[in-house]
Amino acid sequence: MNRYEGVKVLLTGAASGIGRATAIRLAAEGAAIYAVDVDEAGLAGTAAAAEGPGGLTTAAVDVTDEPAVVAAVADAAGTLGGIDVLVNVAGVHKTTPIETLTVDDLNRLFSVNLVGTALFCREALRHLPDGTGVIVNTASLSATQGNPYMTAYAASKGAVLAFSLSLAAELAARRIRVVPVSPGAVDTPLTRTPGMFPEGLDLSYFSKIRSWYGAAAPEQIAAVIAFAGSSDAAYLTGADLRVDGGAHT
Ligand code: NAD
Repeated sequence: MNRYEGVKVLLTGAASGIGRATAIRLAAEGAAIYAVDVDEAGLAGTAAAAEGPGGLTTAAVDVTDEPAVVAAVADAAGTLGGIDVLVNVAGVHKTTPIETLTVDDLNRLFSVNLVGTALFCREALRHLPDGTGVIVNTASLSATQGNPYMTAYAASKGAVLAFSLSLAAELAARRIRVVPVSPGAVDTPLTRTPGMFPEGLDLSYFSKIRSWYGAAAPEQIAAVIAFAGSSDAAYLTGADLRVDGGAHT
């Protein structure tokens, strides 16, 4: 498929997991990509793995650093000659029982997951074309389904979801689509982090809600992001795409 031939994509969180898989998928479909992450070594790995005719430029940027985001989006537009599609994937996770939840945890989760996403949307909207521009934001199934020990993470992703639905309404008159994608469990470095779940917690809830499909591969989420950002999804906006192997049922 060459759905992204001639399409200019700005992608955050491109160094790892779902973001890297998205870079590889969109590059293979012909996109010209400006790939952002805070992890420079990971970005180099993505650049080596993503093959396609459109090319891939990388930039080390912390999505919470407002001046850096403003500069990066302007540079992306200059380098690519515009921006057609923004894909926000950068995110952080934290599991902890409520008793040990800290203000630092809350600030970091909301800062990266919500503020980073919002800043990239605001800045990219200076460039996204009316009629065809698209924003795909990565929320999470946890935004709409309770998950023990993920209160703050889930709340930050609920904020990403609410932000995206409202932005879709705000931009409807310009016919710029905004699509939140909400993965369930995905097998990435984020979910493989040793000690992700503090010792001694009852995790039976997670095994109970795991669907017959198990955890997703990052490529399975990237495929849905690729669809949502493409002209195949021209009538899709403001809908929460839950890509969770049925875990919400
Ligand atoms: P990952 O850790 O493999 O990738 C996240 C990327 O975001 C990393 O490359 C990291 O360096 C980057 N990042 C983190 N903070 C950043 C910052 N301040 N500035 C720039 N880049 C930053 O994780 P993943 O599993 O691929 O997750 C990707 C997205 O999908 C996240 O938003 C995550 O919350 C969401 N998600 C993941 C799962 C899952 O089960 N893995 C489920 C639902 C939603």
